[in-house]
Amino acid sequence: MQILKFGGSSVANSKNINAVISIIKKVLSDDAEMVVVLSAFGGITDALIETVVLASKADISYQEKLEGIVQRHLQAVRELIPLDKQSSVLSMVKKRCNEIEDICKGVFLLKELTPHTKDSIISYGEILSTSIFSEALNCLKIKNCWKDSKELILTNSVFGRASVDFLATNKAITNFFSSSDHQLFILPGFVGRDKNGNTTTLGRGGSDYTASILGAALKASNVQIWTDVSGMMTADPNLVSNAKI
Ligand code: ASP
Ligand code: MG
Repeated sequence: MQILKFGGSSVANSKNINAVISIIKKVLSDDAEMVVVLSAFGGITDALIETVVLASKADISYQEKLEGIVQRHLQAVRELIPLDKQSSVLSMVKKRCNEIEDICKGVFLLKELTPHTKDSIISYGEILSTSIFSEALNCLKIKNCWKDSKELILTNSVFGRASVDFLATNKAITNFFSSSDHQLFILPGFVGRDKNGNTTTLGRGGSDYTASILGAALKASNVQIWTDVSGMMTADPNLVSNAKI
């Protein structure tokens, strides 16, 4: 078993997503079992946060911001899925986007944003990216199993930076994978669920952690964290403007 994780910039547009698909195809040809963990499409987590923060300030421009997020995902479907198979995938994406819209409307009306609600909103980034990706693979006849990580990564209720309950999580992961005979699994990074069934997240950049949790539980031969930057930066470029590769 191998775990391959691709971050937001690796799935930021259909060109990059197709590059990820070629990598997966190559690894699959070795007959290996594989879990692919994806982040949200690049920039989507930030955009979701900005949207719900606007809504919490009763700023109606949240609707415009949300529409941009919706269009970006619909566009990805149009670019990745052949025309004759688009309608079911488009309606799946629209259904999930309607859920985001419903939550934002609640936040707008109440002018209240709790960490719990924020996690519910931002979890949709990974749920959407992986569902579209899984459908794109299906259309290429690459059989795969999409699994909602919220059912496997079980956490406490510290929204925004939840801690993993490893006993419960490892059990859920091993139970699920031992009862499935798929070769390829597609899972959203970053998201989990607490004891009460509420959505939690593992902290910003948490998809790497999701990949590692899965790798450890499944005793994977390796966990690969893919990125579209050659090499490594000397520092975090968000903090150090002259960081070099
Ligand atoms: N999408 C989340 C973030 O932007 C998690 C991740 O990308 O690892 O923080
Ligand atoms: Mg990252």
